[in-house]
Amino acid sequence: MREGFGEKKQPIMKILVIGMVILSICLAVCIVLVSTLRSTYSDEISADFQAHHISSGEKLDATIRSGIEVVESAADVMGSAAASYINTEIYRVLSDYDHFSMLETLAFVGNNGRVYYRDKEYSASLLGEPLKELQDHMRTADGTYIGVTISSGDGMPHILIVVPVNLENRSYGYLAATMKIDDIFEGGEFNYQNDMGECYLTDRNGIIMSRSSDASITPEESEDFCLSILEYSDGKEDSKKAVQALTNAYRGNSAGFVTIKTRRAQSLQISYYPLSSVPSLFFISCYNDNLVDDKVQPLLFRSVLSCIIIVVLMIAIIVYVWATSKRANITIEKLAYEDPVTKGKNINYFKEFASHIMAVFKETPFVIYRFDILNFRYINEAYGHIRADEILTSCITNFASVFSEKELCVRMDADQFLAILENDKEIGQRLDRLAKNVNEDARGRGIKYPIRFKTGVYQIRKHDHDIDVMIDRANVARKTLKGDDSEMTAYYSEKIVQNMRKLDRIESDMQKALANGEFKIYMQPKWDIYLNRIAGAEALVRWVREDGSILYPDEFIPIFENNGFIEKLDFYMLEMVCQKMHEMIEAGNTIYPVSVNQSRMLLHSADYVTNVKRIIEKYKLPEEAIELEITESVFLDDRNSMIQIINQLKQCGVRLAMDDFGSGFSSLNMLKDVSFDTVKIDREFFAESVTTERNRWILQKIVELAGGLDMEVLCEGVETEEQVSILKALGCRMVQGFYFSKPLSEEEYIALYCRANIMV
Ligand code: C2E
Ligand code: MG
Ligand code: MG
Repeated sequence: MREGFGEKKQPIMKILVIGMVILSICLAVCIVLVSTLRSTYSDEISADFQAHHISSGEKLDATIRSGIEVVESAADVMGSAAASYINTEIYRVLSDYDHFSMLETLAFVGNNGRVYYRDKEYSASLLGEPLKELQDHMRTADGTYIGVTISSGDGMPHILIVVPVNLENRSYGYLAATMKIDDIFEGGEFNYQNDMGECYLTDRNGIIMSRSSDASITPEESEDFCLSILEYSDGKEDSKKAVQALTNAYRGNSAGFVTIKTRRAQSLQISYYPLSSVPSLFFISCYNDNLVDDKVQPLLFRSVLSCIIIVVLMIAIIVYVWATSKRANITIEKLAYEDPVTKGKNINYFKEFASHIMAVFKETPFVIYRFDILNFRYINEAYGHIRADEILTSCITNFASVFSEKELCVRMDADQFLAILENDKEIGQRLDRLAKNVNEDARGRGIKYPIRFKTGVYQIRKHDHDIDVMIDRANVARKTLKGDDSEMTAYYSEKIVQNMRKLDRIESDMQKALANGEFKIYMQPKWDIYLNRIAGAEALVRWVREDGSILYPDEFIPIFENNGFIEKLDFYMLEMVCQKMHEMIEAGNTIYPVSVNQSRMLLHSADYVTNVKRIIEKYKLPEEAIELEITESVFLDDRNSMIQIINQLKQCGVRLAMDDFGSGFSSLNMLKDVSFDTVKIDREFFAESVTTERNRWILQKIVELAGGLDMEVLCEGVETEEQVSILKALGCRMVQGFYFSKPLSEEEYIALYCRANIMV
């Protein structure tokens, strides 16, 4: 609970989601690109193949036509040689044209029944059946004959070109030439076709005359192209229609292409082109899908590879960003939520945790503890910072082991802690255990000084209240505790709030009150019990508000000491007292020495002595008319410089009194270092002194000691006649107390004691 409650969705989640979306878009774009690329390539290759097919067909036509032209020009020349039947002339013409490479054979068939081939003469009957057919044809038609025939010699198909040899309208025979078509596709112009697929020459009945050497679509033994294609197809209606369209194209002698689906679900494109040079011949090229894939694949591969690289890079970037921001988040979280000293949580975390825990456990009663360690300064100074820090850490670690997951303790700063605890029956035991564990820990580290907590407690009433207010309230309670160990725990209450309000009011009104003269001097006479008459007075401040209500020093002096205003007030009081005495002297009144209280703070003011001197001189009062009362607590500060200041004060012509002697620890020490004029025995110390014989004896020795040091002793808070008698018996001459007089207003004091102009 303590750790996990605040795990928020990190911005990294957002980054991951965005990353995944980008990734998906990338992949989708990649897939779309690849598929469009494939179909574009497929279309392009199809068109390209078609174009190559036609141009190859045209080239084939051109080749055959040039063969025909060679034979026709040979026939022109042969006319005169044939007319004379001079063998040598015939052989010469034949050898002149025989070397044209596209012609395989060139022979002259004379009407004389003889066949001349190369430099030999044969009987026409040797030419076999096919030629006989031609002879018949030649007899009926005059023009050049071009056709395909199966040679009786090698059993292979050939293109047969037969051209009549005439001279002056008289026929002497004909030239017969053959062009081999078996290896016709080996030429360079068919490279593309052969690379992409395979080529065929068929006659118009679909009988295969020639095919590429690596042709595989039609079986070698098959002669019928259409039938083979049908077998190669998937046999579905569409494919049958395509084959039918091919058959129709044969009949119509037209060019074009059809596509069939093969048994392997590939597309086979068949392009057909009727050769114009040989009417009965069709040039056919085929290629199928996997050929497209062969072309497209490297490109696809490269595209896919690029996509994969991009995706991998993106993943790497996302992972990097994720890892870096996670690290940054941890650091930020540490800075935001961790206390650097104890490595526990800090106040920011506490606030979130407390709000959360109260929202979840609505019915559970909780309390806020705001505590610090008593005299932690001492631990710091005596054992050093490192040890002191270890104690702070020990508080946090022990808390975690003693308290439940619903509870949390954090260090705020210095030795200030803050905890939210479940307010159940065992809370006291748990706190005791915490203190015990911390102390054991401390002892283990060599710290003998007891670790004790001063705690302000706020009991949470409404779980939905502002956590800051709750913390403040616990702190308000803590602040009511004094710096000592007299009280260790304070609970927030309405009374505390009222006091706070009062304090606020005092602080906001003090300046105005000073300016308006609301701080009044009250005089409490000091009494000489030997002579039983007034011997002086102590000036005591009263705050008389505009509405007539009176505030006593105990209510505001500590506040002024805290906020520094006491300095102004004390100088004001000193000046007012001096001014009053000056006026009284001027008016011819009797005056008695008056003592004025000086706060401990005042002595720290840089020009304190100068100011006192200035005021005393300003009102030209008789020597020792003014006595300054300084409490022994000033020596808790820098002892030597305090002694120096007090001695300087003595030079200003004022008397010095040590106030509240016996209320602290250093009283006797002070007597040793500074020669005061008066020692004022503290009211409570005195009250106690007169209770037992033993105490009385101590008091008597103090009186004797002071007397021995040439100091006057004054007892404060004398309230009864019995006390007066005891003091008389002890040899204490001066007293101050309600028995003789309460503090009086200026007017009362003057009226009662200062009417005659006598200076005592
Ligand atoms: P303090 O200097 O010890 O003054 C004596 C206090 O004891 C006075 O209280 C006085 O009214 C009271 N007191 C005198 N006789 C009796 C008695 O018989 N019984 C009882 N119960 N009390 C008696 P006060 O006026 O309330 O002053 C309290 C403290 O406030 C003073 O103690 C003094 O330390 C401080 N204080 C008063 N005026 C000033 C001032 O102008 N400046 C400074 N810095 N402190 C002042
Ligand atoms: Mg006093
Ligand atoms: Mg006093």
